[in-house]
Amino acid sequence: MDRRRLLAALAAAPAALALGAAKKKEAKRKDPPEPRASRRRKGAKAPERHVDVAVIGAGALGAWAAWHLVRQGLSVRLFDAYGAGNGRAASNLASMMLDPVQGGDALYAGLVEESAKAWQRLSDTASLPILTACEAVTALAATDAFAPPRDADRLGGDRLRARYTQIAWRPEEAALVAEKGAMLAGRRGVLETILDAQVAPEDVVMPAPLRDKRRDLYTLPDGGTAKSLVYACGAWLTELFPQTLTPQRLSAVRQQIFHFGPGQGDTQFRPPAMPALVDRAYGFNLLPDVEGVGVRVWKSAPDATVDPDSFDRRADADSGGRALADARQWLAGRLPRLADAPVVASAAAHDCRTATGDLLLDRLPDHPRVWVVGGGAGRAFALAPAIGARVAAHVEDASRPVEPRWALARLTG
Ligand SMILES: Cc1cc2nc3c(=O)[nH]c(=O)nc-3n(C[C@H](O)[C@H](O)[C@H](O)COP(=O)(O)OP(=O)(O)OC[C@H]3O[C@@H](n4cnc5c(N)ncnc54)[C@H](O)[C@@H]3O)c2cc1C
Repeated sequence: MDRRRLLAALAAAPAALALGAAKKKEAKRKDPPEPRASRRRKGAKAPERHVDVAVIGAGALGAWAAWHLVRQGLSVRLFDAYGAGNGRAASNLASMMLDPVQGGDALYAGLVEESAKAWQRLSDTASLPILTACEAVTALAATDAFAPPRDADRLGGDRLRARYTQIAWRPEEAALVAEKGAMLAGRRGVLETILDAQVAPEDVVMPAPLRDKRRDLYTLPDGGTAKSLVYACGAWLTELFPQTLTPQRLSAVRQQIFHFGPGQGDTQFRPPAMPALVDRAYGFNLLPDVEGVGVRVWKSAPDATVDPDSFDRRADADSGGRALADARQWLAGRLPRLADAPVVASAAAHDCRTATGDLLLDRLPDHPRVWVVGGGAGRAFALAPAIGARVAAHVEDASRPVEPRWALARLTG
């Protein structure tokens, strides 16, 4: 080939290549276009009928117990009477707080770091964030005398006022500031955990354990079997085990939640400027505005015991507007710039409380391979990864001692 023909061929090459690539692209393009394949999730396997463990309850505790059990190599079925992510479950709230201070309780503070790491890993691989980092501030009551846990600093009123200008602080006040707090997506977090565990949740109402003595297995409603059972049914544990878990020992308690909407473009109530706030001085809690859902406010103390199946989940359904009036009064004192903000969402929700305020995690009497887990007084969601790990460890090693504060005997005397 002479020089001129060679140059002409070289000049034509990019055009030919581009034409080839365009043809290839054209061939690949689907009409109509298909949605992009999921970034990483494999589908859940079809449930087996005979498994190592059946987990009953697909709230945060059941989801994370299932997650850990699967990671341990066990076969798992996950049941929920109303379906995973249902509107009655305590785990169904839009947002939850992960508070490293835990009211100065070392047992629960110890579970925070482990749980935060697990939520972060889940969040990093999810399509939408599950964990949003924010500072967590505990405003101390005058009688609080606990020392700040590791990673939290005690600040006085003047320093707090300089750091959080949206919050009103009295000069004599003190608060514990933890930089490694977080907000978690509630319902989305549960569904993502189940997806990540690759377990297909089944809409099954599970009765109390039915043991096949001959085979030493538990019979499941569809005739399948499980070697072990984990009842992570929250406030429904009372319904399942009325003799052991009487309403005096474990109950569903109601709390009212209000989301107040800051003005357009107002970012002072969003992380990182706005922390989560546990106001022990006045008995309220607050989560900052994330994803535009507004600043969430709720009283620490419940206002009624309820039936988790049938209670009306509208806020202030039977209290004549008192719950909202209380929340606004607190807001006017603590976050005066939000005092007149509109309510953009509200609900009545239930939590599962034990008489001791602690978590319950123990075997069912006379059933060495049946575990019950629930309660936790307003913090079990955030700590669910660490609690789920402990549930799985108990299932794996039945001789592992239970945490004395979580023992059934503490409730049953
Ligand atoms: C107002 C409010 C604010 C809160 N804020 C926070 C917070 O900021 N941070 C935090 O960590 N926690 C918070 N909590 C607590 C948190 O919501 C709960 O601790 C947590 O969600 C409990 O999860 P769970 O899995 O034990 O129960 P649930 O989520 O209630 O799940 C139990 C599941 O069991 C199923 N079930 C029941 N009976 C059966 C049966 N027989 N067969 C099959 N399935 C059954 C139910 O349908 C349900 O889905 C808050 C609670 C309230 C009320």
